[in-house]
Amino acid sequence: MKNIILLAPPAAGKGTLSEMLTEKYGYVHISTGDLLRSEIKSNTTLGKKVDGIIKEGKYVPDDIIIKLIAKRINEPECDKGYILDGFPRTINQAEKYDELLSKYNKDIGVAIYIDVPKEVAMKRACSRITCPKCGRIYNKYSEEMRPKKEGICDDCKVKLTHRDDDSEETFIKRFDEYVNKTMPLYDYYESKGVLKKIKSHESKYDTFNEAVQIIEN
Ligand SMILES: [Zn+2]
Repeated sequence: MKNIILLAPPAAGKGTLSEMLTEKYGYVHISTGDLLRSEIKSNTTLGKKVDGIIKEGKYVPDDIIIKLIAKRINEPECDKGYILDGFPRTINQAEKYDELLSKYNKDIGVAIYIDVPKEVAMKRACSRITCPKCGRIYNKYSEEMRPKKEGICDDCKVKLTHRDDDSEETFIKRFDEYVNKTMPLYDYYESKGVLKKIKSHESKYDTFNEAVQIIEN
């Protein structure tokens, strides 16, 4: 199966698409956040170092991130294919990742960019409500994501709350920042001929089907 580098602005539905692809194809989902957290939890020398860096509020340097990615993609379960989520973030990381791929004789696969208009993403993000207990995300404007009973979690029966970081202003800032930062990566993968753009549809199944076409062709 083709390995996937998933690129998507906030509220484009990256998490949902990852989950659906993982479920259908058995992909391994790799996020740098998870890798860092598990390294800290295992209390390795590297984990302790990472913990210190994060506690100081600093960015974890690329060489550490690359080391963790290298270790992960070489685990046997990743042979069937993996989805990279949140990596690479910069051209430097992308180049280092290319070096890893040739070193380990692995295929880059495909870079999928989920395209979503800013207004659509903002409307989604700002009408997003979450369950404080289980963390499930609902959205009253989406037929698929609406809770059965308004304002109440289907599973926990507790009151849903707004995420306060998603005011319109902060969302626009976050969105623009992401797009500006990601454009060089977009161009990088386009010039390699591995970039595929899909649309973030109203229905998660439509977005999913676009991704399926890419993976299976
Ligand atoms: Zn819940």
